[in-house]
Amino acid sequence: MIRKLAKAAVAGMGALIFPDKCLGCGKYIKKPTENPLSVCFCLTCLGQGMPVFDHPFCPACGRCFESGPDHLCGACLETPMAMQSVRAAFVYKGMIQRALGLFKYQSKLSLARPFERHLFQAFATHFDMDHFHLIMPIPLHGSKAKKRGFNQSYFLVRNFPRLYKDAYDRPPPWRIDISGLARVRATISQTGLDHKARKKNLTQAFACPNPARIKGKHILLVDDVFTTGATCDAAAQTLLAAGAAGVSALVLARA
Ligand SMILES: [Zn+2]
Ligand SMILES: [Zn+2]
Repeated sequence: MIRKLAKAAVAGMGALIFPDKCLGCGKYIKKPTENPLSVCFCLTCLGQGMPVFDHPFCPACGRCFESGPDHLCGACLETPMAMQSVRAAFVYKGMIQRALGLFKYQSKLSLARPFERHLFQAFATHFDMDHFHLIMPIPLHGSKAKKRGFNQSYFLVRNFPRLYKDAYDRPPPWRIDISGLARVRATISQTGLDHKARKKNLTQAFACPNPARIKGKHILLVDDVFTTGATCDAAAQTLLAAGAAGVSALVLARA
């Protein structure tokens, strides 16, 4: 299956007009490898660290540990999150941190496709994909989306149905839902706020305009970065309050 996924990822590259210069160092990229990100970064830059999210980690929040078996982390034992589980494609450090900055704040949209493929592989690796009914990118508030021009989380999943079909030869049991969850209040930037302040900032930031569509559904939230998890957890709380059966999160990079 993984090989099939990798094959699909490389096949998808053919149609892509990718930058021939490395987004990291500016040097020309010789030949893309099987790593989807090799169309945007040279091998030297990739070698500087695209740490893949892997065991051991906390089965709930996905916090990675240096060694030992998987176990619930202290934070989850103390205050469990609303989400059942959080998984990621990468650990948020090194080149991936830089690449995400380029994607989000400098609109390097050539990264969307490789990111999406890595995220899809993480979805296949860490979740029972057929468990979900809806995949929901975390929405941006209207004013923020307008300023940026795009919702980075939607760009990470918009081709998931096709990737699933290519890998499994059948249509996915879930669909991408971009209107079931709305951002109703603009939050100030979370950067620089401590955990408590973040949580307060996010209170009532989300709403479900149509709870009938949410009721009884297993939902996978998708976001680009997971640091404290306050954003995803606020969204999950809103969805559960609207009647969702369960909420998990898949992110590109987990701090
Ligand atoms: Zn480079
Ligand atoms: Zn945890």
